[in-house]
Amino acid sequence: MTTPLLVSPNNVTANCMARAVDLIRPRIQATKPENVIFSVGTQINGAPHLGTSLVQTAAFLLARAVRRNFGIDATVRFGALDNAPHEIRLDPETHHAYQITYFHALGAEGVADMIGKYYRGFFDSLADATGIDYEVHTYTQQQADPAYRLGFLATLERLEQIRWALAPSHGIVHVRLPCPTCGWAEKRAERTRLDIHGSGGAVFKAVCTDHGPYEVLVTPDRPEPYLDLATLYRNLVKERLPSPPRTLNSWSRAATGPTAASSSTKPSPPCPAPAPRRASSPRWCSPTPAPSCRKR
Ligand SMILES: [Zn+2]
Repeated sequence: MTTPLLVSPNNVTANCMARAVDLIRPRIQATKPENVIFSVGTQINGAPHLGTSLVQTAAFLLARAVRRNFGIDATVRFGALDNAPHEIRLDPETHHAYQITYFHALGAEGVADMIGKYYRGFFDSLADATGIDYEVHTYTQQQADPAYRLGFLATLERLEQIRWALAPSHGIVHVRLPCPTCGWAEKRAERTRLDIHGSGGAVFKAVCTDHGPYEVLVTPDRPEPYLDLATLYRNLVKERLPSPPRTLNSWSRAATGPTAASSSTKPSPPCPAPAPRRASSPRWCSPTPAPSCRKR
């Protein structure tokens, strides 16, 4: 069910909430879901930063609170962003940044090893402590899903309207379609062009530093080519994915960092499902910048 009042929820929480779980109470009261999924996405680029662990812990605790307070099932879904850059280099002529993802650099087995090394033990402990089950999905699996690709293709019909919301500084949306030969992609899509699009798919043209111009066709029904989207664009597509009936999706995220700036009011093609609820973790302040903590 949707009402205009719930499309833009009140984000000012001072004096109106007694407990963190009250963040999600209005939507539960309105939609009466049978289960709630707390999604928490993480770039798996090395040992997790403390703030990342904090967000993940908050997701498990909120799931437990939902189950206790409302008597409905709740789980945690860990989104392993294996499209995170494994390596970045500059094109010697244009100085455009090129990147290769963890998936392209390590393969599915290498990604699974990283998840096992850095996250499984911690998640198992959280599951034991809270009694909340969790599941792991990689971005590579998600981008191959026909529903995700359909959602992406639908946004192209309104690209001119949404591109400034997704890329406010320059208007170039970051659609990264890796070179079919080497797997590297232009990080900021400066030379990536949408050539043709229609109901059956979209043709993009791009340029590889080593292999020159190339062309790829994105269709709903094939998992190739790899479709890598920057955070804001990815979230827009994910918000449009239909949920199973009686399931409420809630995104858990940190209250700091660039991804926390993701707008919940982006213009979007008609959405088949209500936008997921968002729960931000407490702010973690550290004198050490997060990126240096991630490096081994
Ligand atoms: Zn190449």
